[in-house]
Amino acid sequence: MNERIVVAKFGGTSVADAGQLRKISSIIHSDPERRFIVVSAPGKRFPEDRKVTDLLLDCYEKAHTGKSFSAELKQVYLRYREIIEGLEIDFPLEEEIQALENTLITDPQRDYTASRGEYLTAKIMALYLGFTFVDPAWCVCFDEDGQLNSAMTTRTMRASLLPLQHAVIAGFYGADMNGRIHTFERGGSDITGSLAACALNADLYENWTDVSGLYAADPGIVENPETVSYMSYRELRTLSYMGASVLHSDAVLSASEMEIPINIRNTNKPEDMGTTIVRHLPHGVAKNPVTGVSGRKGMSVVQIEKVMVSDGSGFSALMLDILKERSLPFEYCLTGIDSITVVIRSELLDSCREDLFEEIRRTLNPDFIGVRDNLSLIAVTGEKATESSDANVRVLAKLTEEGIEIITINQGAGKLNLLIGVPEDRYEDAIRAIYEIRQSISPKSSSGK
Ligand code: ASP
Repeated sequence: MNERIVVAKFGGTSVADAGQLRKISSIIHSDPERRFIVVSAPGKRFPEDRKVTDLLLDCYEKAHTGKSFSAELKQVYLRYREIIEGLEIDFPLEEEIQALENTLITDPQRDYTASRGEYLTAKIMALYLGFTFVDPAWCVCFDEDGQLNSAMTTRTMRASLLPLQHAVIAGFYGADMNGRIHTFERGGSDITGSLAACALNADLYENWTDVSGLYAADPGIVENPETVSYMSYRELRTLSYMGASVLHSDAVLSASEMEIPINIRNTNKPEDMGTTIVRHLPHGVAKNPVTGVSGRKGMSVVQIEKVMVSDGSGFSALMLDILKERSLPFEYCLTGIDSITVVIRSELLDSCREDLFEEIRRTLNPDFIGVRDNLSLIAVTGEKATESSDANVRVLAKLTEEGIEIITINQGAGKLNLLIGVPEDRYEDAIRAIYEIRQSISPKSSSGK
């Protein structure tokens, strides 16, 4: 019989001190399927605290500019000293810190220095758990230009991890063929977790953090929003793109390609089942047609009018070409009978506003160009909504009832992924109003399709 494999990744707050590491040890031991553990570097223990990665980056900045970094390195040392003493283990911390100090003096390297947080945490945790320590410098493969080599990583990780019964893998970094360390973007331990889950073709990728899953709305705006039990990869991507951040987007992408379910869990409340992200809902699970609502401020809407733009003469294509030539990303573009509407982030538009309009006038000879700033864009997401309810209609009716101006609406066919532009100063009111409507819609059972 094949053993199930769970890859469990623990983020910065989950490994912030000895008390947290004891908690994650009992989480790991409570399920024998949790065989492959990925850890971040210790994060903040309290709001004014510093993340170990930030302290390490300070060490590098100082070393690199010839300044003394001993105060910062001492803080790193003390964080790990507290952990080791708290766990009552015998770990050669002085030697490790000495090795780091030597490289900072002789050949300071940014990524190598930043990676030492994960490296030390994984080594300590492996010792504490009695698991094998896996240094990703051996199996997370980067090209020399610092780009991840996914194909080689999958092969090498699989070959390194499969023979092991239990392992702790340091998150956030890997190495190129010359052994030079490269890190992912900040928050990149999620990516390591996802790579390990994909390489092992794991049954589940658990991502342990300090919240019990994804909320249906921003808790900074809505009081005590519901936690969503299940959502699809697509819904997660939409909600994250629009501002809800729990998981690194690259981590979601690779897990979704392999269809590995992701479970977001809370280290401080392991009894909560968190949010599970899957391709299709399990059969019979009841789910609110509106999965969640999120959004972003700082948008501008550009309106270009010309009689019969959609007559096949390529007006819209030319407009998109202009944006492409300038590498100017846009949120979305709507084509009507006599107009095109493009929503662009205001800060991007500001960098080229006059030039862009000039070029549009020259190339497209429009009847009118107008721009409206101070817009926010709200995404209402729910893959099953339009199949089974009038959720979209109710959302729009509620906004109207609240006197919130609807500036743009964009909805693709079939699925509810409604993007609504509203004035920035009504953003919070709109989120609260939509959440209220969500709560009045009863959950529907899934057919598993
Ligand atoms: N330690 C790194 C950071 O602070 C990576 C991570 O935590 O995922 O960004």
